Amino acid sequence: MSKTTELPTFKDKFQIPTLKSLGIKPPAGLSDDTSAVYLAGNSLGLMPKATRKALSDELDAWGARGVEGHFNHPGESEGKTSWVDIDLPLVRPLANLVGATPKEVAAMGTLTSNLNALLVSFYKPEGKKTKIMFEKNAFPSDYYAFLNMVKLHGYDETHLVQLEVAPGKKHLDLADILTAIETHKDELALICFPGIQYYTGQFFNIEEITRAGQKHGIVVGWDLAHAVGNVPLKLHDWNVDFAVWCSYKYLNSGPGGIAGIFVHERHTKDNSKDHYPPRLAGWWGNNSAERFKMLELFDPINSALSYRQSNPLVIDCVALKASLDIFEEAGGIEALRKTSFALTGHLRNRLEESKYYISDSSDSTLLGYKILTPKDENERGCQLSVLFQPHNDNKESNVMERVNGYLHDHGIICDERRPDVIRIAPTPLYNTLSDVETVVSRIQEALSHLG
Ligand SMILES: *Cc1c(COP(=O)(O)O)cnc(C)c1O
Repeated sequence: MSKTTELPTFKDKFQIPTLKSLGIKPPAGLSDDTSAVYLAGNSLGLMPKATRKALSDELDAWGARGVEGHFNHPGESEGKTSWVDIDLPLVRPLANLVGATPKEVAAMGTLTSNLNALLVSFYKPEGKKTKIMFEKNAFPSDYYAFLNMVKLHGYDETHLVQLEVAPGKKHLDLADILTAIETHKDELALICFPGIQYYTGQFFNIEEITRAGQKHGIVVGWDLAHAVGNVPLKLHDWNVDFAVWCSYKYLNSGPGGIAGIFVHERHTKDNSKDHYPPRLAGWWGNNSAERFKMLELFDPINSALSYRQSNPLVIDCVALKASLDIFEEAGGIEALRKTSFALTGHLRNRLEESKYYISDSSDSTLLGYKILTPKDENERGCQLSVLFQPHNDNKESNVMERVNGYLHDHGIICDERRPDVIRIAPTPLYNTLSDVETVVSRIQEALSHLG
């Protein structure tokens, strides 16, 4: 634990819940004001302390100016942005996080609605190429979106090509994905994988999968919900067609915060009023100089901003900005990834050292856990998915439920996925080696009570 001070941390920029604020009665040795060990940033990031003032400043501006705040913000001299352009300061920091040019990124909407919107534009079944490839056990929202998108085109679920983890394996192999693309190349219109799989924590090889699909004229998009703010990305260089993400996970924008999109420059650079890819459109995608002339003429901006439909919620935008400022202060995602390798690497080592670690994939009757996430640090983000066993359908006796209950009672917040998985996500902004030590020893304690 003496190593704690060796890693940079931005913990003091965040409000960390306490046992008291979580409503947890302190067990022996802990007190009401003990900070929680928060390892669920993959689900909902913590609140930056700066967010409260950022929001309240906008409420003040609304109170003070009403509609005039759209063009004449009272805080302009302190660097506040008038609401008509409130999302624009998000573009550059988001572009830095995903490896895009500023023309390739927009903050807008919510994740699933953005996925649907971009599918409307990018899923173009033609001839025999009509299917969508993605992973079996995808996040359900994504599955619903893909299923209904093929249905909107008059097809059924046979138009979904889902890749399943091979028996005895814990995650998809790149080689198997590339082989599947070759097998199905003549029937695929679109491939859309998650950058990082929410359940296993696997970080897919975005560059290779994108290239493998595009080689056969297949459009390749990505759901980066668990990747953005977690791992460095190079969407522009990787030539990704489009990508979507949410911002309430690793980007700490707050529950339901404004999401984002990436659309490669090559799809928007030739936009003009006479020629542009059709889409779900709205006035916020229109050239801003003409926007308020209220013309019957859609003249899309030459960038991803052209996919915006509506004027965004102002407090949503400033909340995300408050968090992105911390990413910049931390030296950006490359610097954070170094801390992340150290934190999650340490978590993995400590979990594997334990007598409860089960590396052999065959025996499912032993008490203990396996780790579903790939071992290679380049094939994961900060999250490790830990599978507890033996499995028990009864919630009261289920090992995972018992362990997670024990962790919660000790102020350790992780993210459970029934039936048997706990996802542990040490985020480099606000988690420390000491948090990692704590969760590992509490897991051992919990299992020793069961064994
Ligand atoms: C978190 C997450 C979602 C959630 O979708 P919302 O539209 O933000 O509610 C969808 N897909 C994936 C892969 C996710 O990880």
